Amino acid sequence: MADHLRKFESLFTLTPQRMRMIVEAFKESLELGLAKPGQVVPMIPTFVLGWPTGQESGNYLAVDLGGTNLRVCLVSLEGGGKFEITQSKYRLTEEQKAEDGQALLDFCGECLKTFIDSSIESGTIGKDEILPLGFTFSYPCLQNKIDHGELIRWTKGFSAPNIEGRDVVDMFRQSLAKYSVPAEVVALTCDTTGTLIASHYVNSNTKIACIFGTGCNAAYMEKIGNIPKLAHLGLDPKGEMAINCEWGAFDSFEHEHLPRTKYDIVIDETSPKPGEQAFEKLISGRYLGEILRLIICELIDEGLLFLGQNTYKIEIPYSFDTAFLSLMESDPTDELLMIIGIFSYFFAVETTLAERQFFRALAKLVGRRAARLSSCGIAAIVSKMGYLEKGCSVGADGSLYNKYPGFADRVHEGLRDIFGEKGRNIVTYHAEDGSGIGSAIVAAMTKQRK
Ligand code: ADP
Repeated sequence: MADHLRKFESLFTLTPQRMRMIVEAFKESLELGLAKPGQVVPMIPTFVLGWPTGQESGNYLAVDLGGTNLRVCLVSLEGGGKFEITQSKYRLTEEQKAEDGQALLDFCGECLKTFIDSSIESGTIGKDEILPLGFTFSYPCLQNKIDHGELIRWTKGFSAPNIEGRDVVDMFRQSLAKYSVPAEVVALTCDTTGTLIASHYVNSNTKIACIFGTGCNAAYMEKIGNIPKLAHLGLDPKGEMAINCEWGAFDSFEHEHLPRTKYDIVIDETSPKPGEQAFEKLISGRYLGEILRLIICELIDEGLLFLGQNTYKIEIPYSFDTAFLSLMESDPTDELLMIIGIFSYFFAVETTLAERQFFRALAKLVGRRAARLSSCGIAAIVSKMGYLEKGCSVGADGSLYNKYPGFADRVHEGLRDIFGEKGRNIVTYHAEDGSGIGSAIVAAMTKQRK
């Protein structure tokens, strides 16, 4: 196995020099996205104008239509970067994701009504109060102001008809009117932008937010004068606006800059959207387990693993969850008992100690490459914005960041490889809840501006 490991080491290892080249290309893509619509990295203007002061206060509602749940929150902003939150979750059925778009939003309205009624009963909301609401809707939308967004296309398994191409805020307002819900939709945001704003509210040194979950994305605050594609709106060029980068798309279609192995190419070509989300496919939780599985399957085909054993379970695409990589890397035993368990329990195959050590080393290579590529994205924003000298904090969220052992350390190591010792000035930390608190703060900022 030692020879094989060396081969994979050279395939998956990113040198500092290579990383710096990626950072330069990444910066160019970010600039292009700001200059013109329809570029590889879309750099979506969010119409969130500037940072919160940290002094925003009052009661706000947040509704988050997520991939699996609908979440309704009451957020009490207390100023001084403090807040309290109460929330309810409602499970979405597969039928609801596919039924009529207005019916889906009506369901959100009904759940909100139930939540408000019980909050009035418990005294957390006053009887005649009409609370401002932030709507977190993390699907690609065309926005031209903070309380407007046309859904471009559904993602994450939704397919509800009669909503694509329409203003989801307008439709949601109709639902609220239908059920006489005492709430006023003032802002539409996505989870990444919310994470940026919520993290800055509690730690004003935060300049960038990243999500590393099923997908990956980042947001940061840009000077309006540096967003040429918005010049026609006549906004104050000295003002600021949060940008939702949608950076998972970096290097899509071109495939010029990122080091793709044959396993990455298989993932791309067999995916529902070949060519798209090239950066995300090397980094996010959806794909890391599959990369490892493809390597294992190749070694099975070559007759190097599991000879004479039935391997059909591990041959099922996407059967190897990224959480297994976490477990494999954190196995504390000499015999690697956790890895024995994963392979025997989930895949019905026996492993030798040498094989388990090899699998653990492979997991490390795949996980480390993902973290180091993530540092390239962060470094591109840091370098573009000139944050290196003074340093800044980066709020990060998602299971990959929060649960994969060593992911954050590897991102920091990557930043030092790119920037040298000054890379220590850029520090990532576990972000605040963007789709609840962040959305409420954006609602507060919008309300106070009016
Ligand atoms: P989402 O991005 O869908 O909102 P998460 O942030 O929880 O949700 O990310 C889910 C992704 O994280 C899945 O692809 C899953 O495989 C991966 N994941 C879940 N648990 C772990 C873990 N312990 N270590 C690494 N990845 C994990």
